[in-house]
This record gives sequence, structure tokens and C-alpha cells, in this order.
Amino acid sequence: MSKKYEKPVIIKVDFTMASKYGSPLKTQKVRSEIDGVNVRNLVKEFGSPLFVFSERGIENKYNEFKEAFTSRYPDTQFFWSYKTNYLDAICKVFHKLGSKTEVVSEFEYEKARTLGIEGKDIIFNGPYKPKEALKKAVMEGAKIHIDHWYEINDLEEIADELGREIPVAIRCNMNTGIYPQWSRFGFNIDNGEALDAIKRIYEGKKLYMTGLHSHIGTFMLSAAAYGMEVKKLIELKNKIEEDFGYEIEYIDIGGGFASKNRLKGVYQAPEVIVPSADEYAEAVTNAIFENNKGKLPKLYLETGRALIDEAGYLLTSVWASKRMPDGKKSYIVDAGVNLLYTAFWYNFDISLDKRYEGLNEPSMINGPLCMNIDVIAENMMLPPLERGSVLSIWPVGAYTYTQSMQFIRYRPKVALIDKDSTPHLIREADDLEYVREKEIIPDFLK
Ligand SMILES: *Cc1c(COP(=O)(O)O)cnc(C)c1O
Repeated sequence: MSKKYEKPVIIKVDFTMASKYGSPLKTQKVRSEIDGVNVRNLVKEFGSPLFVFSERGIENKYNEFKEAFTSRYPDTQFFWSYKTNYLDAICKVFHKLGSKTEVVSEFEYEKARTLGIEGKDIIFNGPYKPKEALKKAVMEGAKIHIDHWYEINDLEEIADELGREIPVAIRCNMNTGIYPQWSRFGFNIDNGEALDAIKRIYEGKKLYMTGLHSHIGTFMLSAAAYGMEVKKLIELKNKIEEDFGYEIEYIDIGGGFASKNRLKGVYQAPEVIVPSADEYAEAVTNAIFENNKGKLPKLYLETGRALIDEAGYLLTSVWASKRMPDGKKSYIVDAGVNLLYTAFWYNFDISLDKRYEGLNEPSMINGPLCMNIDVIAENMMLPPLERGSVLSIWPVGAYTYTQSMQFIRYRPKVALIDKDSTPHLIREADDLEYVREKEIIPDFLK
């Protein structure tokens, strides 16, 4: 093959290009296929941009975490955090694997019910549970996790309306040695608020405690923080069982385990700093065994990000390139921050569909939006790419699709590759009809 002529360029060494951990990647990263399916073929079949999920990827992660926990603590149950990714097909994959459901809104609750999940298999979390939705969830036997004092009153009213006592759990927050602390949600253990809330529930005689819950944050890089969380939950459990005669069936330790994504400003590789499933599980289960008195509780997990992030890819195609006044190369691709809101805090792993000839040079990757902030990667060493070169952005399985917005461009299709390497369409792209469906032009403008 003859080499293509490339105009020589002088590359300015800019301080963002290196850190104390070394200079940016000089070699090309190539991902030509996902689970055996060629990325160019995926784009040919479904269009570009395209979200792609791997069933195999989800299953492997789920089994890794399930194994890590159940081998140490058999009475463990996972509840899929819908907001992390509530595409029906993705939820179905998790349910097929044995995961139940965790929701934080009535919309997610209804979505789970539509997928055939029974109320008793749904945990209803969150600071905003409209009264009607709360009542429906209570009637259907959902696990209600109380976030604040108003909700205690709401539930007592519902108990009166239904003429029966309601089993509840409360969400707790506490210092786990991690800052900033997520103290906005639930009742604080350290200052006695959680115990006060339980006293209040006990004295009201309309609700009774069956569980304790906490979710200490997201992308938590410290396994020890979970040890601290569980120790405090179990100590509270011991105390209220003793003082009030409650039988606490379960503790729910929330989610927050990190994925192998790269947070901006964190230099070490994810492989170095992200704890393994075993490390998280060891911290959690040891804290139960070391502190529990009485009957061992069920252990519930609401892991979202760690189970799905690495199973998701966003394929995007190069549309154009230009040389900016400072000499840097810029590529315009068809996926922007409309689809990758999460680009504001992660440096994704971006790979090419094949090896390209030519010199790597510092390049910027910009989305299709007419907005200066539409930056997917600020500084990446890239060889000369052509119109139609396909980049795969990874890992984007967590929160990316659910936070994507219909802004300037339609949201694209989503595909799921099954375990036999067959891709399936799991969501159509938006279109004009879909976008306008709920709009109304009042008579005076007609
Ligand atoms: C978002 C959320 C989760 C899932 O968190 P991840 O960081 O994705 O694991 C679990 N529980 C609650 C209450 C949440 O709000």
C-alpha cells in the first residue's frame, strides 16, 4: 500500500498533554468489533451514532459481583437501579439474571410494573414520592424506604386510609470517611436523627421497621467506606432490635461501586484504583459478621454503575476535520454532549475502528452541536482520520443513555448484542413525530 501524503505540521507541546504519570498515548487504540460484531457493520446496519450494549458484558459483571457476595454471604439479593439504565431490554437482562428492582420515582415504578415486576420485588427510594404513587406502592407491597420526616406522616395517613400497619425501612446517612458526605438523603445516624426517626415510627404505632438502607455515594473508590457504612447500619440494627423489639429483615447498602471509567483529574488508571468486586464484598460482609448480634439480616444491594457501565459503547462517525488557529486538529463527530452528558466528568476510552496510517497528533473531538461546550475529548493523540471513520467511546453503559437529551439532534438507535453475537435493535431513534407528539399549538396561533 502506498503511503498517503500528509502535510507536515509542527506540534506545540502543551501542558495538558502530559501529567506526572507520563505523556498521552502515542499508540493507536483499536476496537474493530464488539462481541465479535464489526463496528462498521453495526453502523451500517443501525446508523450512526449508535449506542451498543453487550449482554455478555452485563452477565459477566453481574456474575462476578454475585459470586463475590454470595460466596461470602449467601443471603444476598441484587436490585437493579433503574435510573442507571432503564431501557426495557436492559432491565429484562438484569431480571433474567435474578435481579429485582430499585426505583426512585413513580415513572420508574410504573416501568417496572409494566415489565411484570411485582410490587414486593420493588424497592421504592428517593426524596420525592408523590402521595398517590406512595399509596399505590404500599398497596402493592413494595419496600418503602423513607427519606424524611414528611414521608413518615404521609405513610401514617396512608396506614389510616388502608386500616393497617405498614412495614417500612428508613434511609440513613453517615460519615464513612468519604467527602463530600451524602447527607442530603435520609436520616443521619451519627447525630442520632435516625434513631429519633425510628422512635417516632415506633410511637406512631402505624408503621413498623423491617429494614435499614443507605446509599453513600456513587463511583466510590474506597471499599473501606462500605465497611464503615455497614458497621453503622448493623449497630443501629442491633440497637433497635433490642430497644424496640423490631426484627430487621434486611440491610440495604445501596450502590455506588465504581466502574473502570476514568474520572477527570484522577491520573491513575482505573485498573489501579478501582476496587474489585471481591474487595468491596470482603469489606461489606466482614462488617456484618463482626458487628451483628442476633439473626443475620438479608443483604440487599442496589448496584447500578458497576454492573452496566463497561457493557455499553457509543459508536460515532467522523464527519469532518479542521485545523484550529492554535494548530490543533479538531474532528467533528456525530455524537456530542447531547448523548454524552457524562463527558463533563469522565475521560472516556476512545478507540478507532482500524489502524490508520500517519502521524499521531494532539486532536480535539467535538460533537455536532452548535455549542462551544460540545467537547467529547479535549486532547487525544490521533492519526489522520477520514469521514466515516468510526470511533467507539467506552464505557458508557451507566447513566449515559438515561441522561441523554433530545437537543438539536434526535437521539439515536440503541442495539443490544446477545450472547450469540447477534445484534438486536432495542430502541428506535427519535423522529420528528416523536419529538412533537406532546406539543400543542394553541388556537390563537393556528
Ligand atoms: C443511583 C442510586 C443507586 C445506584 O447507584 P450506582 O452508583 O449506579 O451504583 C442505588 N441506590 C440509590 C438510592 C440510588 O439513588
